[in-house]
Amino acid sequence: MNPILIDGKSIAEKIINRVKKAIAKMPKPPKLAFIMVGNNPASEIYVAKKIAACKLCGINAKKIHLSYGCDQKKIAESIISLNLNPNVDAIMLQLPLPSYLEPEGLINKIDPLKDVECLTYANFGKALFKEFNEKEIYPVTALAVYEVLKYLKEDIRGKNIVVIGKSNIAGKPTAELLLKLGATVTVCHSQTKNLSTYTKKAEIIVSAVGKRNLITARSIKNGAIIIDVGIERIGEKIYGDVEFNKALKKVKAITPVPGGVGPITVAKLMENVLKIYKKRQNTNS
Ligand code: NAP
Repeated sequence: MNPILIDGKSIAEKIINRVKKAIAKMPKPPKLAFIMVGNNPASEIYVAKKIAACKLCGINAKKIHLSYGCDQKKIAESIISLNLNPNVDAIMLQLPLPSYLEPEGLINKIDPLKDVECLTYANFGKALFKEFNEKEIYPVTALAVYEVLKYLKEDIRGKNIVVIGKSNIAGKPTAELLLKLGATVTVCHSQTKNLSTYTKKAEIIVSAVGKRNLITARSIKNGAIIIDVGIERIGEKIYGDVEFNKALKKVKAITPVPGGVGPITVAKLMENVLKIYKKRQNTNS
């Protein structure tokens, strides 16, 4: 079998170019504010990548870096001041936050009109109830998975898909989106017994855990499509959840880590900025 190795960078580049062209036609560039708390090295890298993507698209990026130890109230105040600032179009709280903080309350302080990640109760709740519409915002990791399936021209209606991970930012919105698109979705998580009994039957596996080699090649069905969202950092290197080299020999298509879902997620974030910017302009006019 000749597997398709999905080049996330080139998919991302096309999305970025589309966003860039659309922004060039706008009267002024949108502004995206990032709030980062503490010094998580991985978060620093992700924020830097997102700021670089903003530059490519012509989006103004503003980074607000709060030091480790700053309390919930101070972060909430920062969010509220960005909500009130008419020059800020989109707000993103970089996750994970240090463990002494409670993310949900802070996420829900973001004005839904500026909630670029679609994570507030108002936006995600609405997205859950409505039919999927590509023109509207949706959590970006799920959109990146969707983009991979679109690239593969994969009709997922009735397909048996296993999503591993059920977090609010990755696994859950992805599973919900796949369900909306007509797939038969099984969601596995840390309490799932005998994970491989599920993965062995899956035509498509989406893994969003962050544990290297969680999915061994032996636990993958021949000809499956593998979308590896997970990231585990070991020293300077990053790994996905799937035993990549061995899996490559038996799959129909696979996303590598790095260079797979990651760049597409960043590009979809840029696209979400454009979507909410347009929506805000329509609301204000
Ligand atoms: P998270 O909040 O820590 O969630 C991890 C999920 O994995 C949880 O649902 C957890 O189950 C499940 N899990 C943990 N151990 C497991 C096991 N042994 N077997 C099956 N499931 C297990 O993390 P997250 O924010 O969703 O992110 C997940 C991974 O994706 C991370 O590596 C993150 O860096 C990566 N990520 C990548 C992108 C990208 O663009 N490539 C975007 C977002 C996230 P419980 O719910 O039962 O605890």
